[in-house]
Amino acid sequence: MSSMQQRSTSDNDPRLIEGPATRSGDRTVFRNAHLVDGSGDHGVHDLYVKDGRIEGWDLELAATDVDHVIDAAGLLVTPAFVDLHVHLRDPGQEQKEDLASGLAAAAAGGFGTVISMANTDPVVDEPGLVADLVRRGSRTPGARLHPAAALSHGLRGDTLTDFAALKVAGAVMITDDGIPVADSHLMRRACEYAAELGLVIQTHSEEPALRAGGVMNEGAVSRLLGLPGNPDTAESLMIFRDGELARMTGARVHIAHVSSKRGMQVAEWLKANGAPITIEVTPHHLTLTDESLTSFDPLFKVAPPLRTANDVAYLREAVRRGVVDNIGTDHAPHTRAEKERDMLNAPFGISNIEVCFPLLYTELVLSGELELTKLLHLLQGGPAAVMGWHGPSLQPGSPADLTVLDLDTAAPVKGADFGSKAKWTPWEGQSLRGWPVLTMVGGRVEYERSELTQAESV
Ligand SMILES: [Zn+2]
Repeated sequence: MSSMQQRSTSDNDPRLIEGPATRSGDRTVFRNAHLVDGSGDHGVHDLYVKDGRIEGWDLELAATDVDHVIDAAGLLVTPAFVDLHVHLRDPGQEQKEDLASGLAAAAAGGFGTVISMANTDPVVDEPGLVADLVRRGSRTPGARLHPAAALSHGLRGDTLTDFAALKVAGAVMITDDGIPVADSHLMRRACEYAAELGLVIQTHSEEPALRAGGVMNEGAVSRLLGLPGNPDTAESLMIFRDGELARMTGARVHIAHVSSKRGMQVAEWLKANGAPITIEVTPHHLTLTDESLTSFDPLFKVAPPLRTANDVAYLREAVRRGVVDNIGTDHAPHTRAEKERDMLNAPFGISNIEVCFPLLYTELVLSGELELTKLLHLLQGGPAAVMGWHGPSLQPGSPADLTVLDLDTAAPVKGADFGSKAKWTPWEGQSLRGWPVLTMVGGRVEYERSELTQAESV
């Protein structure tokens, strides 16, 4: 493990970790960085950053022209990740998470940009609330924030919000995520409205009447445990409806957190038959099964639920075949007290944004199931394409949104070290590789992991 070293030639040495420290005009070099992105492996280079952008590779400059040197020997430098699906719980549920903790957690996970969900208190269903998030997000260190806005007022599923005004205020996505939109006519109108405005609609596709009071996947394990089940059919039915409405209206519909084989098969069929949909999977649905619930630990209670090993294998296969567009974390923090209720009463959600990359790198890439560049694409160019954004890139002129990854040092997951307020995790103690050691957003270092330099070598 190489150590991170920084040097400043300026007299008021700005500590790069402290937010807006790098003054414009400063030049940073990542020395001997292994440059890899979704497009391939570019080998080892010196990568220069200036004025918030990538200036170039291997520039011939005098040492005095460089303000900050980061020794990246042995480390991988790649575009910062983009997460289309995080719950920051702000406004109103700051006991679970707030902008400061959530955006810091995102940066610690290697994410440079996140989209916050609207199921807060109050619900983000008014332009003023969107504008407030944009304003506060721009002043908060950590990842860059783009808010989503609610599809229906109060997530009640009866009247549409004012998509046009929400877009003007800064909303980049429309979604009632957390609550499925039950009324198909309302969803049709939402799709028509969003298509007119070129907005992406993200769906939480579960048929609510069929999901009923299910707290876990319906199957052999739920029957064994005597817990109410939520069948995969609730997901596949609603994905079919949402995909068909996308096809009918031309709306760009993003199917969030596909969890089951049936759901994925329906989504694939829709995509192959002309529905303008995109498909997301989460880290937990790719790595955990409903067997985890035999512990009766609500830590593993998520919506949609963890499914069977057969479902996980199929989701992984779908990822390999390239039908999945992005990995979104669905980072969903709750308080310890809430997650310590019993299985029936605990809320749904896992705090996972800080383990997303190491978990998937260790379980999918090191196991030989998935190429590293494919995993990176699902966290970089994939989500950007869903949104119609420019693909993150290491080419000169691109925004200096960068993540430095240590692929070699194994370290155990420690929830207590999370930047998130939700410091409990299904992967506690698991030894993973691929930890982010530094995240730069717009040319500023927003996260730096120092303790990893003393981590165990396994
Ligand atoms: Zn959801």
